[in-house]
Amino acid sequence: MYNSIATVSLSGSLPEKLAAIAAAGFEGVELFEADVLADPHTPREIGRIIADHGLRCVTLQPFRDFEGLPEPRRAAVFDRAEHKFDLAQELGTDLLMVCSSTVADASGDHARIAADLHELGDRAGRRNLRVAYEALAWGRHVNDHRDAWAIVQAADHPQAGLVLDSFHSLARRIPSETLLDIDPTRIFLVQMADAPTIQMDILQWSRHLRCMPGQGGLALVDYVAALMRIGYDDVLSLEIFNDTFRSHATRVTALDGVRSLIALRDEATQRVKPAGGTLPPKVAVERLDFIEFAASRDDTVKLEALFGKLGFTLGGRHRSKAVSLWRQGQISFVLNSEPDGFAASHGTVHGASVCAIGLAVNDVAAAHVRAQGLRIPSFEQAHGPGERTLPAVRGVGGSLIEFVEAAIDPEQAWMQDFAIDPAADTKGAGLTGIDHFTQTVAHGELLSWRLFYTSLFDIEAEPQVDLVDPVGLVQSEVLHTPNGALTLALNGSASSRTLSSRFVDYYFGAGVQHVALATDDIFTAADALTERGIEFLQMPGNYYGDLVARFGLEESLVARMRRHQIIYDRDATGSYFHLFTRAFERRIFFEIVERRGYAGFDPQGAAIRLAAQTRLKLLPGDPAVPMQSRP
Ligand code: MG
Repeated sequence: MYNSIATVSLSGSLPEKLAAIAAAGFEGVELFEADVLADPHTPREIGRIIADHGLRCVTLQPFRDFEGLPEPRRAAVFDRAEHKFDLAQELGTDLLMVCSSTVADASGDHARIAADLHELGDRAGRRNLRVAYEALAWGRHVNDHRDAWAIVQAADHPQAGLVLDSFHSLARRIPSETLLDIDPTRIFLVQMADAPTIQMDILQWSRHLRCMPGQGGLALVDYVAALMRIGYDDVLSLEIFNDTFRSHATRVTALDGVRSLIALRDEATQRVKPAGGTLPPKVAVERLDFIEFAASRDDTVKLEALFGKLGFTLGGRHRSKAVSLWRQGQISFVLNSEPDGFAASHGTVHGASVCAIGLAVNDVAAAHVRAQGLRIPSFEQAHGPGERTLPAVRGVGGSLIEFVEAAIDPEQAWMQDFAIDPAADTKGAGLTGIDHFTQTVAHGELLSWRLFYTSLFDIEAEPQVDLVDPVGLVQSEVLHTPNGALTLALNGSASSRTLSSRFVDYYFGAGVQHVALATDDIFTAADALTERGIEFLQMPGNYYGDLVARFGLEESLVARMRRHQIIYDRDATGSYFHLFTRAFERRIFFEIVERRGYAGFDPQGAAIRLAAQTRLKLLPGDPAVPMQSRP
């Protein structure tokens, strides 16, 4: 199978799209006719640009509302087809894609449609061209690939074949086993698109919300596995209509497209032939090993003070670098104050920030090979003699994901580089581990980073939720590994004034906005942290009044929660207590969480938190301050 993409999937001019498609490593391109009509180059020149990029022009598409028409419109539509054949030949493709008719008075008689398709195949054949027929999910009479296949069989012409489109099939919940009945040599084109699994009008769903395989919820692995089982070995072409992609960076979307197809084919191959995948398996994260902060000399002093107030102990200093290790419970924070190198440049761009996440995995080499196979850039920098080197890849906002061998004892590993104080007391304020962290990204990048994580790691994405910020909505998507070792949320907002968007502006890009630290006893931890001088975000009294009524909690418990600014949620699985620190330098903030069986993230509490943070952030004169509250 080889990779292709339809030009409609990308933003930009046609030459920009073609350059991005070639640069991303696609072998083929589907030309969307509207892109050809809007371009100043002649069709022959466009064909030459495609060839110069080393691309194959897979098809010209779409030819609409062709079949079942009464005369004289039938004759006219065949004349129109001849014009499309001229265009296809000039562009350098041998295939015209025909989608099923939506015309109200066209005949739905399959024999009649098959006869029209036979004649079209005949006319195409005279020019050494082919035609391929697709069942649109909203086609007037033909809207199921089983019917399209029956018509192609009845048309019985070697130049007339079938188009399969995963969206049209799976949006209508047609079982992928039905593909097993199709002769693979009669499939001239397979188009791939995923989509979020939501209830909505099928045409609007298709036109606006299609996405790359792995970014939605359709069962594409089963679909491609079925194609592999029948021996289909030709083109897989992305055809994605997505409002965000139409405005997003062309090359980023194109690279995501290639990544999605590589990951999809790998997974489908393994489905058909266990251990037959082309890449090492998805990376299983065993442990979130460390979070590394980059800081200037001044910020280092401030962060050390903050870590101390949070109950962290200086566990050791690097033997040769300005890097320190801070420990509490199972948490390791690395503070990198080196004046040169990656952390320094990350800090120069973003200020004090999380520059790397260390993940313990079972096979570091295999993880690195999988990342490379998915076209995820590797990162390397010079290191001193005897220093531990961690294979790393570029993650969100240019930060790093560093891989650590899970089998190596973490203490032994740290001792290789750090002068560790074995007697250091790491009980601190009773914080035990990292519960989750949030990476805030530009709204248009949410799907891209979701694909990054789900293609590289064995990680599940939960359905996206809207968090209510006082000045807009924040879209949030939680990803978690099956063993719970890694949980993160990707947040982004289309509204420029939300806390998420202000973070991306102020931080100068995407990055970690918040780290949630776990405790077994939030009241004791809150007392200890307050004593150490941590300031917590103030929650409104109205909230606590409602808690009593909403959950039937004891008034004395709610009074304790209010004293510590702890908020609460409960579901069938358990209850959740959490509270938030004030943000450090308008960037990162910390959350303290105690889970009593609860596995969620309290989206209602997030709205209360966002309102509290917005009250703090908005200063008089700030354009984000509502007019009525300006002095
Ligand atoms: Mg299609």
